[in-house]
Amino acid sequence: MLNIVIFGAPGSGKGTQSERIVEKYGLDHISTGDVLRAEIAAGTELGMTAKALIDHGQLIPDELMISILASKLDKLAGGNGVIFDGFPRTIAQAEALKVMLAERGQEVTAMIELDVPEDELMDRLIKRGQLSGRADDNEETIKKRLVVYNEQTSPLKEWYKNEGKHCYIQGSGELDRIFADIVAAIDSRK
Ligand code: ATP
Ligand code: MG
Repeated sequence: MLNIVIFGAPGSGKGTQSERIVEKYGLDHISTGDVLRAEIAAGTELGMTAKALIDHGQLIPDELMISILASKLDKLAGGNGVIFDGFPRTIAQAEALKVMLAERGQEVTAMIELDVPEDELMDRLIKRGQLSGRADDNEETIKKRLVVYNEQTSPLKEWYKNEGKHCYIQGSGELDRIFADIVAAIDSRK
């Protein structure tokens, strides 16, 4: 079982690199952002709650997010493992993930941190907003998301260092080089 946490600020390339990792290792992909956007598109109650928070650059409350994640995990057939994209985003979520995996006799294999300078994140997200029309990819909301990332999510680097799982990847530059660095990090730990 290969359980990978792909980690980084908004716009750091988690989704892009996840697709490649999924293809190479045959993992299931759980993207919490995609899950929430699907709920919004379907107009569910959860989607409406999520939209109000996402549009303001805020996180969905831990308890709710953890239960969503647990139900996604339960629906997987038990393949080669999972790539967690956008989760955990808080220490409470990381602790919950550790427990959920332990209950299944598993653990996180590696936490892959994609490090990208803030000015580059800003440029990437503004461009993405122009192309995709994602409502949270506008300058004002991006700034809030970066503050939330620095305050609530970034401490997970230390948390995973203490767990002995943290792998640093320079997340700016050529997509192929970044992917090669990720593969080397995963292969050295599996
Ligand atoms: P990337 O561009 O690297 O894929 P992102 O930050 O732009 O990352 P998503 O991961 O798609 O975007 O998440 C979009 C929004 O969904 C977040 O800003 C947050 O409001 C909400 N969200 C997603 N995952 C979580 C989570 N684990 N806990 C709380 N809120 C979440
Ligand atoms: Mg994403």
